[in-house]
Amino acid sequence: MRVRFAPSPTGPLHPGGVRTALFNYLLVRKMGGQLVLRIEDTDQTRFVPGAEEFIIESLSWCGIEFDEGVHKGGPYGPYRQSERKAMYRQYAMQLVESGHAYYAFDTEKELDTMREQFKASGVASPQYNAISRVRMKNSLSLPSDEVARRLETGEPYVIRFKMPRGREVRVQDRIRGLVVVQTAQLDDKVLFKSDGMPTYHLANVVDDRLMQITHVIRGEEWLPSTPLHVLLYEAFGWLETMPEFAHLPLLLKPDGDGKLSKRDGDRLGLPFYATEWTNPETGEKMPGYREAGYFPEAYVNFLALLGWNPGDNREIFGMDELIQAFGLERVNKHGARYDFTKLQWFNQQYLRSRSVDSLMEPCSQLLIQKGWELEDSILRALIPLVMDRMVLVSDFIQEVRSFFEEPESYDETVVAKKWGGVFPAVLEDLIRCYESLHEDWSGTTAEALFKEAAARQGASPGSLLQGLRLAVTGQASGPALFDWMSLRGRSACVARLRRAASTLPTG
Ligand code: GLU
Repeated sequence: MRVRFAPSPTGPLHPGGVRTALFNYLLVRKMGGQLVLRIEDTDQTRFVPGAEEFIIESLSWCGIEFDEGVHKGGPYGPYRQSERKAMYRQYAMQLVESGHAYYAFDTEKELDTMREQFKASGVASPQYNAISRVRMKNSLSLPSDEVARRLETGEPYVIRFKMPRGREVRVQDRIRGLVVVQTAQLDDKVLFKSDGMPTYHLANVVDDRLMQITHVIRGEEWLPSTPLHVLLYEAFGWLETMPEFAHLPLLLKPDGDGKLSKRDGDRLGLPFYATEWTNPETGEKMPGYREAGYFPEAYVNFLALLGWNPGDNREIFGMDELIQAFGLERVNKHGARYDFTKLQWFNQQYLRSRSVDSLMEPCSQLLIQKGWELEDSILRALIPLVMDRMVLVSDFIQEVRSFFEEPESYDETVVAKKWGGVFPAVLEDLIRCYESLHEDWSGTTAEALFKEAAARQGASPGSLLQGLRLAVTGQASGPALFDWMSLRGRSACVARLRRAASTLPTG
């Protein structure tokens, strides 16, 4: 098996592109074979500087490794189409000579006039095709000496595919099944442009052939081009080695129909690209998932399940497990919603499965940035208390803020609900008990004394617990309270309880 990921360097790689690269990677690693990175940069008007480097970096962050490509070299290079420019003309010429393609000399103005005339006569989307081509300036409509003269004088021309009439093209797609298209619906696409460059269609087919690609796995947006590609394979006489096709379903908006776009991330204030993208025109930097602190494993796991399912309800898959489980049979036809909250969920799962040791370094870096100091032994005990509540490692700061800063205010809904009745009396009692404690301070002791104080007022400790949390942290929820209090230390807890008792209403 030889597969390729063939992006055009027209901007930062869209998540759909990362998913296409991933599915190619998973399948080829499972089946054995090579994955090629080919850069399709034949449309120089759409070239964006930095896009190619971005593609390579994003995919490498995801752990998607290529065997051959622009950055790797390999036996079928060069892998950048602009560097293969000289090769394509002979293939276009081959089709002209065999009668499958022709020269067209029409200017932009003449093309516009043709479209307008057809529109005026009621044709909604006029095309350059078997009907209109006879009225245009091309080597099928002009006398042959006129064509020869134009070619000799160096008049600009394009080479168009001569779409056969009255044919039915059948494409067997591994995901969509049999796709049947009538050639009457297809136009005479340009294969070779006046600037000496091939178009996407010609370059794509020629390169897939020359690079001996066996499976073309790409986004659904390329399905409409596939009948033309099949006809090109046929015209070249390459049908026997034509690759198999698999068109992956679109990525849809999180909350409705329609294609996913960067604006969907912007609306939620969340990253959209895998890694940071710097707009080459404005210099503006857009942080990616990497910069925002997502784990590449979580991102890959999330993307893998967009349009593919393992056949059971397992959701957590490392790369090796994905390779084992992946297959095109379980890729769906219908689009997959890009649910940002699901990505957060995956990241949370991966974070929870991290060892405390592996989080020590990033968490202590975060503390240093804040200027908050903590002994390693306390940090080691604090991380497991809060890690289940974090989506990103950087959430650590917000989860431990109340550990370092005394509450500036108290959650009002909890004050209204819990601060009253016997609570102030329990609190006074508890402060005295904590102050006069002779044993060592621990979570167990703190909890036992709290239960005793509650019992003395005839209250159930459970009903007062949230009030206690409010008094020490100011917050309605948080990590296991008594463990937290044990790490925070006795005198700091007493000070906080005193402060709450004097700040909050007593009855
Ligand atoms: N250059 C096309 C793109 O940008 C590649 C489509 C294909 O894989 O054939 O997506």
